[in-house]
Amino acid sequence: MNTNGHECKLNMKNNVFLFVFIRVHSWFKNLFSWMRRHKTRSVFLFLLLVASFINRHVRDNMGRAPNAEDIARFQASPNFVDGKFKNRHDRPNPIDTEPRPPRLSGILKFLFSNEGHPDTPPPVVKLTRADFQDPLPLADFRVTWLGHATLLIELDGIRILTDPVFDSVSPIPGTVRRFGPPPLPRKELPPIDFVLISHDHYDHLDAATVRYLARKGETYFYVPLGVGARLRGWGVPERDIFELDWFQSSMYEREHNWFGTNTYNRMDFTAVPAHHRSGRTFRDARTTLWASWIIEGAERKIFFGGDGGYDEDFALMGEMYGPFDIAALGVGAYDERWAANHLFPEEAVLAAQELRAAKLLPIHWGAYRLAPHPWDEPILRTIEAAEKENMPLINLKPGEYHPRAR
Ligand SMILES: [Zn+2]
Repeated sequence: MNTNGHECKLNMKNNVFLFVFIRVHSWFKNLFSWMRRHKTRSVFLFLLLVASFINRHVRDNMGRAPNAEDIARFQASPNFVDGKFKNRHDRPNPIDTEPRPPRLSGILKFLFSNEGHPDTPPPVVKLTRADFQDPLPLADFRVTWLGHATLLIELDGIRILTDPVFDSVSPIPGTVRRFGPPPLPRKELPPIDFVLISHDHYDHLDAATVRYLARKGETYFYVPLGVGARLRGWGVPERDIFELDWFQSSMYEREHNWFGTNTYNRMDFTAVPAHHRSGRTFRDARTTLWASWIIEGAERKIFFGGDGGYDEDFALMGEMYGPFDIAALGVGAYDERWAANHLFPEEAVLAAQELRAAKLLPIHWGAYRLAPHPWDEPILRTIEAAEKENMPLINLKPGEYHPRAR
């Protein structure tokens, strides 16, 4: 009886499978014969399908904009004026007053071309999750550069990841490609306690990485005002997002760390001004805030300047919060046309001095072509300027860490 019942079920299953197969087969047969008869329409429909796929992907990557409730909240910020965030000091960029908008050919070249990329990918030190599993003694400290503005900072038993990007940095798949694979693939990240985001430009805020970390549910996100809306749209729960205005701090305490040893940790995160802008579409510039971050542990203080140009606030921050053990500052992607948006290498050295930083860690270079300068010019100019000014440099390859000896 049992066997018969089993066979009967199997037959039923096979019949259902056969039925579905015949239906699908005949559906495709009809479709292909229709396509043969209507070639132009088929091509059109195919292109429409591809376009709608890309459109969906692009829109999804752009992320959600701040809503009316968010905007009402921004009114309390002195940096939010007439519906937009603004820099504290006026420094016009030549590109903003250029009579003509950028040419389509220029935009396409920026998105698709490999021109200006190094002939072979720049050297990186390959890492895996295992490289971060050795318990780092609590008093120890290590900062690993993962390329561009992505730093994995291990401080007081806490792991902090800044501006994490691992692939191409554009909403359109496969465009603005990285020079080579990252030293540590996204899937090899160890558990991350905090992510700090400087602003919502694509080379600093990556939807895929945020979604990946949100699924794991182990991470708190510190972001400038407005960037929380993007994160919520990608699945980060409200309770895991801390949105700060410039000069606001948030203190974090806990009584255990990921080594399982019961220890008390305290960490202060402060958002401070950067001279930059924000936006993920042609129309949403400056609708979310941009910031640098100060990370203060028990004995060490780090300045993370994710992106931005020079202004007198570096001296002010040096006075208010300095000295720093390390200032991680962007040294690449500069150009005279957007001189106020990105530090030139010499300005980065000056900014590190004004911050009263013991060491300058150059970031934001060597992974993407975001300006017309040669890919390695930023670090060569930084070395020269730092030598001239006696500014100690932490010159890392992607995947290397500081301090080198543990
Ligand atoms: Zn930027």
